Amino acid sequence: MLAADFGWLAQQTKEAEKAGAELIHCDVMDGQFVPNLTFGPSVVHALQDSTSLPLDVHLMILQPELSMASYVEAGASIVTVHQETCPHLHRTLTALRQMGVQPGVALNPSTPVTTIEPVLEEIDLLLIMTVNPGFGGQQFIEACLRKIEAAQVLRERAGLHFSIEVDGGIDPSTAGRVVAAGADTLVAGTAIFRGSIAENIRALRRAASSSRC
Ligand code: ZN
Repeated sequence: MLAADFGWLAQQTKEAEKAGAELIHCDVMDGQFVPNLTFGPSVVHALQDSTSLPLDVHLMILQPELSMASYVEAGASIVTVHQETCPHLHRTLTALRQMGVQPGVALNPSTPVTTIEPVLEEIDLLLIMTVNPGFGGQQFIEACLRKIEAAQVLRERAGLHFSIEVDGGIDPSTAGRVVAAGADTLVAGTAIFRGSIAENIRALRRAASSSRC
């Protein structure tokens, strides 16, 4: 949602839903963990009224355990916290599960997948950042493809079923490669909200499915 025109937030969300988006990904930034500042639970709550799609809330904030309940109350279906912000990650993830949402964990480009191996059973979603979080419109970091592959191997070995989501620099030129590496959920901002949303989503889906052949 970072790249959407805020004045038209509700309308753009509806358009994305009509065009076949399956989740609305909300980038919450605190100006501390990441340099940028976006929005809080009230915007998530407002979005809930304009879409029937699940809200996938990505918390790029320090001490997420202090405010994550307010995002659950605001209507989130998935709440993702960063490994780098959670010294008691297992406790944070199990608390999210108890609140009735799907827990997710996110990794910055420089954080190895093995750092979350002990909590894989607690998550429904693993978010692999393919840019350094904080701004929209950044260039995809190629080295992250190996992390997606590593995550898929870990998931298979453990017999688990969490989603592997990628976020950052996803457009028709990168979508096929991240899917081939093992990603099943693609987050796109700039590549969707600039120009025709319906056309952009079609182009992304085409690129993503071409790698499955
Ligand atoms: Zn995100």
